[in-house]
Order: sequence, then structure tokens, then C-alpha cells
Amino acid sequence: MVEKGSEAVFLLPRPFMSVSFAYFDHHATTPLCLEAREAWLRAHSEAWMNPSSLYPSAGRSRRLLEEAREECAELLGCEPARIVFTSGATEGNNAVLRWAASRGGRAVLSAVEHPAVREPAWQFFGDGGVCELPVDEKGVVLADVLRAELETPGTKPAVVSVMAANNETGVLQAWRETAARCAEHGVPYHCDAAQWIGKRPAAGLAECAWVTLSAHKFGGPKGVGVLIIPAGTFSPLRLRAGGPQESGHRAGTEDYPGVAAMAAALAARAGWAADEQARAKASAWRDAFESRLMKHLPGTQVVGSGALRSETVSMVIVPRHPQLKWVTRLGERGFCVSTGSACSSGKGNPSPVLQAMGIDAEAMGRALRFSAGPETVEADWEGLLEALLDVWEVLESGVRDRPKVDLSRL
Ligand code: PLP
Repeated sequence: MVEKGSEAVFLLPRPFMSVSFAYFDHHATTPLCLEAREAWLRAHSEAWMNPSSLYPSAGRSRRLLEEAREECAELLGCEPARIVFTSGATEGNNAVLRWAASRGGRAVLSAVEHPAVREPAWQFFGDGGVCELPVDEKGVVLADVLRAELETPGTKPAVVSVMAANNETGVLQAWRETAARCAEHGVPYHCDAAQWIGKRPAAGLAECAWVTLSAHKFGGPKGVGVLIIPAGTFSPLRLRAGGPQESGHRAGTEDYPGVAAMAAALAARAGWAADEQARAKASAWRDAFESRLMKHLPGTQVVGSGALRSETVSMVIVPRHPQLKWVTRLGERGFCVSTGSACSSGKGNPSPVLQAMGIDAEAMGRALRFSAGPETVEADWEGLLEALLDVWEVLESGVRDRPKVDLSRL
């Protein structure tokens, strides 16, 4: 499987080229794509000067930064003035919640938001200032409850925040409808699109008043992102105090190389995200994996099954053994997988996402998340299935397992 074009193979030294290895944690972060790497290196050699400096050679950095803004705007379907470069979705989400709290009132968010939305909401709006929208057992926000919140007289929310695609389960929310409904009621709608961009088409997202994303989720570098702000936001948002960069919205020397790499990754992934055939192939591989896993490991449950989900992700609850045992042993077989944010063996913090879907703490402790990327091939899914079945046998037999790869060399 390794020789079949997996980008993650570059992470392995040569002697390991023949072992099974597959990266199934793209929801955590993705490898830098070639286009982004080239753009980053080019920017550092040709346009490393401070875009705010006044001599002509620095003007090149300024011009290229604005060209990158135009490119991102075109790919995201909005005017360049709506693009504010940030350090990623966490910063963008905090900024939106802080701005909304400064208007007073309350925040309405889904119960399955990422902590980068939930934590600032509770911090800035305080107890009694946050209304969490419930989801059904598939993880989909209940549209009727949202409608009732918007229609309650005299309590117009300062912001509604519902993500596009869930980081743990991949379940998609109806953000188009939410954007339209919020616009009808004159309520600003924020969409955390960190797990949507690069996986599904961006068309229409800019209909949301605020959108946040992170470059490293779609093949760009870490520490760079975009906040789309509402059209006609003329007074500076002052996300950070300091110089007048980003039209006064965010102080600090702009990271042009990071921005150039992000724009290159966005362009590179836009083709894949809009390619329905590629996405159909990805979901066929994922679906085949899930049905074979359920057949061979009776008692396995697919989380979010029956809802619309990102084609590249699968969250399952496996039988009997706690998730960390699986993650460790799969890692020893060269498969990088995650627990999502679920708790371990019922200890620690339970996942609010799975909790909102009605999954109990014990089952949460057996949740595993496999998130593939554009470079994942069918053989990677097949290898993952084989490795899971192998781990199952080892766990059931109680035999002391040995790592299948020399982890010290990775
Ligand atoms: N929002 C979602 C849905 C995410 O999945 C993540 C990261 O996992 C974030 C926000 C935070 O992104 P970052 O850590 O790049 O700021």
C-alpha cells in the first residue's frame, strides 16, 4: 500500500518503504502539499521583505500579498475586502465570538461545535448567554429548534454559529439553509468551515456573514488561516492591538510566505473538492471499509451513519476494548488514527459531540476516527481493515503484542 502514491510515505525513511503505513488523521492536520511547499519556498526567497516597508523591493511583497488575497477571495467566492488573514480557525472563531459578545445579547451555537467555538462562546457570553442547539442521533442540528430561537420575539441572537462539517464525525450541517434563515431574521451567521474547505466545494460559503478556516486542514502550512468578515465591515475589527495591518483588522507583520502557501493549497485542493467523481470514489472506499468492518467485527457501530458526511472520514465505535489500546496497536502497525476528541475508556472529558448524539460514556471510550485525504488510495483502507482485524485478534487473545515496525526509526 505504501508504494501506491500515499503522500504520507514521504514521512517514512527508506528502509520502511515496504511496510504498511497509512495516514488516517487528516482531520487533525494534513501533510504540506507540493504546491504549498513550492509557493512557501518561492515567497521566502523572492518576497521575504516586510510588506509594510516603503522601498520599492518591499512593494513586491505587498503586491504579492494582495494578489494572494484576491486569489483566496476568488476561490472562496467573496470580495477581497472580506478576507482577513489569521493564524487559523481558533483565532478566527475567537474573534467572531468576541465581536458578537461586544454587541450584547446571546450566542446560539450547535452542541457539536469545536472547542474553538464553544470555549470562547462561554468565556465571552458567560453563564446564561449561550444557547446550545441540540442535534439528532445522527449529529444533525435540529432545524426546528434553530427556527424557534430565531423567531422568539425580543431575544434576537447576537450571533448564530453552526459549523459546516464536524471534526469528529464528519457529519455535514445544512449551512446554506442556516445562512438563508439567519439572513431573513437579520442575525449574523458564523460558519466554522475548517473541516469543509478542501474536502467539499466552497461555492456559496461566502453567503455566511462570517467564515473561518485553517490552511493546515487542506494541505497548507500550520499557523495560517482566513476569516471571512461581513461585506462592508469598514471599522477595524482590531482582532489584535498594534499596527494597522490587514486594514486595521489584525495587527502584526503579515506572513506572506504562509499566505502564499495557503493560497496555493486552496487552489490545489479546490479541484479535488469540486470533483464529484473523486469524492464518490472516496466515499465508496470508505463505505466498503465500514460495511466490511461491521461484518467482520460484529458490534461495530458507525457514528453518524445515515447522515450526510464528509466522504473521507469514518468514526466507528469498536467492540469491547478501549480506544487507546486500538490507537497504540494500529500505530505500531504503521496506521495513524485518532480517537476524535472522545474520552478514553470512559475516563477524562467525554466528547460533547458524541454526548450530544446520545452516545454513552462507555461507548465513547471505544470510538475511533479514521480521516483520509486526497492522497489516500483504496489499498490504504483495505490495509486499515486488515490491521484492525489483526489488532482485534491480539486484544481478544490477550497475547503480548510486538510492534510491527521499528518505531524508533520513524
Ligand atoms: N474548528 C474545527 C472544526 C476544527 O476541526 C479545528 C481543528 O481541529 C479548529 C476549528 C481549530 O483549528 P486550528 O487548530 O487550526 O486553529
